[in-house]
Amino acid sequence: MPTANAYAATSSKSPLGPLAIQRRELGPRDVLIEIKYCGICHSDIHTVRGEWGETTYPIVPGHEIAGIVTGVGAQVKKHAVGDRVGVGCMVDSCGDCSSCRKGEEQHCLRGMVGTYGATGRDGQLTQGGYSTHIVVTEDFVLKIPEGISLDAAAPLLCAGITTYSPLRRWGAGPGKKVAIVGLGGLGHMGVKFARAMGAEVTVLSQSLSKKEDGLRLGAHHYYATKDPETFKKLAGTFDLIVNTVSAKIDLDAYLSLLALDGALVNVGAPAEPLSVNVFSLIMPRRVFTGSLIGGIPQTQEMLDFCAKHHIGADIEVIPASKINDAYERVLASDVRYRFVIDTSTLK
Ligand code: NAP
Ligand code: ZN
Repeated sequence: MPTANAYAATSSKSPLGPLAIQRRELGPRDVLIEIKYCGICHSDIHTVRGEWGETTYPIVPGHEIAGIVTGVGAQVKKHAVGDRVGVGCMVDSCGDCSSCRKGEEQHCLRGMVGTYGATGRDGQLTQGGYSTHIVVTEDFVLKIPEGISLDAAAPLLCAGITTYSPLRRWGAGPGKKVAIVGLGGLGHMGVKFARAMGAEVTVLSQSLSKKEDGLRLGAHHYYATKDPETFKKLAGTFDLIVNTVSAKIDLDAYLSLLALDGALVNVGAPAEPLSVNVFSLIMPRRVFTGSLIGGIPQTQEMLDFCAKHHIGADIEVIPASKINDAYERVLASDVRYRFVIDTSTLK
């Protein structure tokens, strides 16, 4: 069995540290990937710290994986040794239910298999991308187009698709006013995509400290949500708001910023429940909804869109020894705008 060097958490309270793990032998439809880079998503932190329910330890997080194919099973058709590839939040699904048939594998009726912390169809606990190698069935391996460097591509596999999908679903484009709440890993990708799709883009951040960056990333406007004037000034403005915040926010205040038939899509996934006053929805017929990553076909579409529009994530590449520091910086909203682990430092 291929051995991989990895970084793992052994409890919700202990820092992550080195661990050697075994990957499964290559099955006929499996691809062996040498991971080059892996992004740090806030979901890794929620999971490691047990905020979303029970976590099985040790856990190797990481679902923003970019690397090179180094081996393929006998029946693999989609990928070849040497290909530049990525893996996101899923490594398998049933392939047969109505969701999978529509290419919405993230909503597999039999349950998609998460890249880490899930039970794979081989019965093994899945372990993620803070590691040197991974074995994944070919259907869940994406092609990273030439023109996007592997380090800047890694965060596209989660932060990218998670923002691209609701922007497409809710029609971000010319003539549409789109707000992105929270300028972190997801938020900065949301700004880039909404701009590239042709929308008028506003960032709603806690303060104005990242305003220059927000405008450089593509926003037309930038407001601080700690300033109550922001909510008065922007009342009834937006066709679409994508909330990427990892903590509880006052949804009614944000819903008041939507125009008639506007939609607020929650992608942020705080453990704490959010509450809504129904009058925030009834009055100008507003929509409050959510969105979960995106299916495999749309993830490939997003990667191709990135190549066409020269989009990658803004990243800070770190060695494995800095993972625990990076977690603290993410929690302090001090990320510009995604930490990416250089897996050659996993020894
Ligand atoms: P992140 O990099 O930490 O960004 C979150 C941003 O939210 C921060 O940069 C900050 O932006 C803002 N924020 C943080 N705490 C806040 C607070 N108390 N009040 C107001 N704003 C606050 O995290 P991420 O990796 O982008 O992930 C964001 C959330 O999405 C997480 O909950 C994650 O689990 C979830 N997620 C969901 C999906 C999905 O499929 N739905 C996929 C991936 C991740 P400012 O400094 O600009 O205010
Ligand atoms: Zn993620």
